[in-house]
Amino acid sequence: MRPQASRRPHTVSNSRCLKELVARPAKKVILAVTLSELYFQKGFGLKSEVGPVLARTYQSAVVERLKSIGYEAGAGTLHFKLAKEFGFCYGVDRAVDYAYQTRRQFPDRRVFLSGEIIHNPDVNERIQAMGIHILADSRVPEERFRPVGAGDVVILPAFGVSVPELAHLKEKNCVLVDTTCGSVLNVWKKVHFYARDRYTVIIHGKHYHEETRATASQALTHPGGQYLCVRDLAETELVCEHIRGRISADDLMARFRDEASPDFSPERDLQRIGLANQTTMLMSETLKVQDTLRRAMLERHGAAELESRFRAFDTICSATQERQDAVLEMLNAGGLDLMIVIGGYNSSNTQALAKMCAPRLQTYHIDSPGCIEPDGIRHRPVGTHHNTVTADWLADGAVRIGITAGASTPDSVVGEVIERVLALRGQSVEQLARATQVAEGSQSYA
Ligand code: SF4
Repeated sequence: MRPQASRRPHTVSNSRCLKELVARPAKKVILAVTLSELYFQKGFGLKSEVGPVLARTYQSAVVERLKSIGYEAGAGTLHFKLAKEFGFCYGVDRAVDYAYQTRRQFPDRRVFLSGEIIHNPDVNERIQAMGIHILADSRVPEERFRPVGAGDVVILPAFGVSVPELAHLKEKNCVLVDTTCGSVLNVWKKVHFYARDRYTVIIHGKHYHEETRATASQALTHPGGQYLCVRDLAETELVCEHIRGRISADDLMARFRDEASPDFSPERDLQRIGLANQTTMLMSETLKVQDTLRRAMLERHGAAELESRFRAFDTICSATQERQDAVLEMLNAGGLDLMIVIGGYNSSNTQALAKMCAPRLQTYHIDSPGCIEPDGIRHRPVGTHHNTVTADWLADGAVRIGITAGASTPDSVVGEVIERVLALRGQSVEQLARATQVAEGSQSYA
């Protein structure tokens, strides 16, 4: 459990936002919704009503200011540089917007989320504070949705839900608000093409992640459809070793039992493969996974058969790509002393950003402003599953700090992180100003 210090109390204005949101029923639109309409994918036409609440809750004056003065500013001996693309992506924006609209549309109904709406603790806390219940994870739909009954409203998150879960909820006659991102739907389309043409779907992704589980389930809707998930290059190499005939099917399955479709047979199901990926993986790794599999298939079957046995689509979403490109640009530009990467510890796209930074710069992956404490920074080192506190992370003298955030991190969180770092040096947001002169060891702001 996360220590209480990392929790951000809801401010007076945020509490006011929540009250505003649920106080007045959206009468006009409710009249338009009949009981025969149980599935919604486009919101409820309440964007203009929830928009101001969302802006007050998730935007940040600090971030807006930094953006307006060229994404770089400083105060005293601290200098901040923001990535050109960071934070909320279009899919998350839409999912959060629809969740707020749903609460407004159904003020008297029980509203559930089929899991975290996005992987950000701050956003999930706010959603829960509106009386939306986040259901505990389970791979068994009957278990996961046990608390839900007919007429209850269930919001499906941006990364989607599996085919059996959707079918189960429809059977229960729940009102479904589907916020599945268009980029995820695009991956599913590719998976259907593969499975229809009898290609086993190889998914570069985390087999336990909701999006990957939902994507994998699409393959099973076709006769003979199969899938196998590879998390990284090391797992891909293992699969390739089997394709080359160097490790047995039993040895492979001992490693991939949970990562493959239930009746997966390596000899039968690795003859023709099609590659897709979780939308938020590290692009450079996805390309290596693709190349490694292609080479193994070439070696095993020869050039003449490659085209009929191997297919690949890059299904990294554009928002993920843009955030990774922006970090690369920052790293290549140089001049930074450390990076702060902000986002949920279970957020794949945030992990990918931290993974890019760690080999090049001292990197601190934090999940909330509360991680910046007077006696150190609480963070999760890349590739680990534990948090640690580093006391002397902010050296004396001039420090240049790069900042980026995953696609599920709102600007409000980014702004508060900057405020807290400034406070460690006795500086305030009001003192943040554009850098006018940068010389060795000296810098001035105006
Ligand atoms: S990270 Fe990409 S796929 Fe996921 S919600 Fe955002 S835009 Fe959609």
